[in-house]
Amino acid sequence: MTTTDPHAPSATDLDAEASALDAADPLKHHRDAFVGADTSLVYFDGNSLGRPPRASVERLAQFATDEWGGRLIRGWDESWMQLPFEIGDAIGRAAIGAAPGQTVVGDSTTVLLYKLVRAAFDAQHAADAARVEIVIDRDNFPTDRYLVDGIARERGGRVRWIDVDLTAGVTAESLHAAVGPETAVVVLSQVAYRSGHLADAPTLTRIAHDAGALVVWDLCHSAGSVPVRADEWGFDLAVGCTYKYLNGGPGSPAFAYVAARHQDALAQPIQGWMGTADVFAMGPEYRPAAGMRRFLSGTPPIVGMLAMQDTLALIEEAGIDAIRAKSIALTEFAVRVTDALLAPLGVAVASPRDAAERGGHVTLSHPAMRAVTARLWREDVIPDYRDPGGLRIGLSPLSTSFGETLTGLRAVEAAVRAEA
Ligand SMILES: *Cc1c(COP(=O)(O)O)cnc(C)c1O
Repeated sequence: MTTTDPHAPSATDLDAEASALDAADPLKHHRDAFVGADTSLVYFDGNSLGRPPRASVERLAQFATDEWGGRLIRGWDESWMQLPFEIGDAIGRAAIGAAPGQTVVGDSTTVLLYKLVRAAFDAQHAADAARVEIVIDRDNFPTDRYLVDGIARERGGRVRWIDVDLTAGVTAESLHAAVGPETAVVVLSQVAYRSGHLADAPTLTRIAHDAGALVVWDLCHSAGSVPVRADEWGFDLAVGCTYKYLNGGPGSPAFAYVAARHQDALAQPIQGWMGTADVFAMGPEYRPAAGMRRFLSGTPPIVGMLAMQDTLALIEEAGIDAIRAKSIALTEFAVRVTDALLAPLGVAVASPRDAAERGGHVTLSHPAMRAVTARLWREDVIPDYRDPGGLRIGLSPLSTSFGETLTGLRAVEAAVRAEA
């Protein structure tokens, strides 16, 4: 090791620490529930595409044979029509702190965000014509920024951008300065996709409400790894991915949360037959259903929403607070290993150092990280890359071990030496 810090842990210290942390981890047995976790591949991208649970492999095969193959069109009446609501309630219970009847599995995150932001903007603007602004930060996920820009243009509104530090995210002060009597809607990510910054969701929600605005929370990088108490924190609306920490598989549909108090007052813009009060009445005009059904548009993607049920069951069993405790231990360990092995090579931690302000991933920055990522992928070490120079280390608490984390960061060290 080339570090000059005499207090830096030695290689054997780090091995001993990883072993001790794994031995003491109360969630360690859950790792066996995932396909591929018993191989030498290091997976640092469960925040982009979670590993498949073994139970999901079984569930998908069984569904194809028995339900799709055996029940055929009868499946819709027997269970599929209700599945978006049943799984939505399971997400509410296991991951986002929502009482039943407020969460539904629907389209992609992008489409659900569009529906909810537009519905919220229209309702706010109709109630008070002065409310024409949508507030969002410049470092929010691209789809969120693009949608907000499009909705503002489409509805004659405007965007108020919040500038943020790329290693952090939206703070109480920055939101406070951005909202006011012209704010219709605020769009925020609970965990910033680039830096991993964990927003203070209850405080930011209160600041927006005090200004008379509604908030649409994007929970893509938090659902399943960070506690969310949507009802308790007074959320209005939220959306989130299911293929990240909920392991729903590539392209699995997203969920939408709409607080009960808002449901019947909001009109979403994609008026399809599946969102009507009586789906099979096939009447002359669109009449939105009461409750969450009105946020659906077309035929629900049933096959896509099967796998997430297995991870939701695991989350309920383990408990989101225990998952968060392991997530913090994993990111703390990753930061310590980075300081010991990578800081001497010029790698910086581009995520908050305070665990209370950090979600489930850590971003490491160095100008060579694009090439480092390509080299690591060839070696079966899988982080991902985000400009500028950011290597994202995603640590999925149910499927990642401390030993895997150390092995992967040692591979990052070797790759930085080779590419720098
Ligand atoms: C992953 C992610 C998305 C992805 O949206 P899709 O419609 O599923 O492609 C959106 N927003 C955030 C914050 C994300 O992290």
